[in-house]
Amino acid sequence: MNIQEANQYLAPNYGRFPITLVKGQGSRVWDDTGKSYLDFVAGIAVNTLGHAHPAMIQTISEQAATMLHCSNLYFNPQQNELAKQLIELSGLDKVFFCNSGAEANEAAIKIVRKYFHDQGKEKYTVITATQSFHGRTMQTIAATGQDKVKQGFAPLPIGFKHVPLNDLAALESAIDGATAAIMLEPLQGEGGVNHACPHYLADVRKLCDKHDILLIFDEIQTGIARCGAMFAFELAGVSPDVLTLAKGLGGGVPIGAMLACKKVAPALSAGSHGTTFGGNPMSCAAALTVLDVLEQENILENVKQRSKQLQAGLQKLVDTYPFFSEVRGNGLLLGLACEKEVMPIIHACREQGLLVLAAGSHVLRFLPALNITEAEIEEGLMLLNKSIEGLDL
Ligand code: PLP
Repeated sequence: MNIQEANQYLAPNYGRFPITLVKGQGSRVWDDTGKSYLDFVAGIAVNTLGHAHPAMIQTISEQAATMLHCSNLYFNPQQNELAKQLIELSGLDKVFFCNSGAEANEAAIKIVRKYFHDQGKEKYTVITATQSFHGRTMQTIAATGQDKVKQGFAPLPIGFKHVPLNDLAALESAIDGATAAIMLEPLQGEGGVNHACPHYLADVRKLCDKHDILLIFDEIQTGIARCGAMFAFELAGVSPDVLTLAKGLGGGVPIGAMLACKKVAPALSAGSHGTTFGGNPMSCAAALTVLDVLEQENILENVKQRSKQLQAGLQKLVDTYPFFSEVRGNGLLLGLACEKEVMPIIHACREQGLLVLAAGSHVLRFLPALNITEAEIEEGLMLLNKSIEGLDL
């Protein structure tokens, strides 16, 4: 079926690029005409181990032959083990599994409200940052600090406020007696690859402790080694009360997780929340394999090395072209800020055989698989340079 035919059947909500991908291997994908692309998108920070990693193939096929799903009416060993590993890695206390990032954030918003409700306190407002992105459900578009995701969906759920990132005074003045939580991405992905400064995060933590407010870190894009540490909060040395994960956790198999600290976790009491597919044996087995391979193949070290290499190559572009202003980000979540709209560059890259994406209209975003090789980063930089040279910007 060609793209025109497919568009007769598919909801028009995605602005898709005009190629159909049929196969992947490592950091390379192929379209249905046989053209190959170097993949610096990784399914939007999802394919942690690239495409068709042998360990993922083995786990998924063995798990499919054993048990895909059994519901949360019963325990399953994969969910039990994944919970244990995530708790040990994060320092939080309990985990709830779901299927996507938005669902993990829904659970985070629900647990903080329930935590205060259980104490008889009227605290329900969640403060987030402008330019944040927290998902596409009704609560999570209300939480998102970008108007474009909200248009046409009013009335939105109440109880959300937005303040500029890294502005402590603005945050302090937004806090009132109804503030339940502050929810931040340690490094904003969709909003433009914008850093929350480590000292800002430390000050936010202090504010939360002072005012009996919970701190939620949305690490749906930054978590699972993407930023050069297992969780980006480690880079700032600031721990949240609630942490959300998805994307890279399953390496391509849908899974989300909401982790809560000891004092907050009991609020998600029996019967208070749930989801049919959450934590099924297949998604948890895949996530366990992602965690195992990250360690076995020392992938965090690769993230650090490849990040330096990619940043150096992008910095050369900043030094060469006046319209590139800055390289931002951590690990393999990097952004190249541009004074011009980046979409023509993305199209030119694709024609040259390189997949990259945007973060907003003026930032090129690079999210390769975490096991990408030195040679592949070099090749990607070469293709990027070639694409830019060929454009009349
Ligand atoms: N939070 C962050 C920081 C994200 O980057 C995303 C997706 O891009 C989400 C939440 C929503 O995740 P999902 O698309 O899996 O619902």
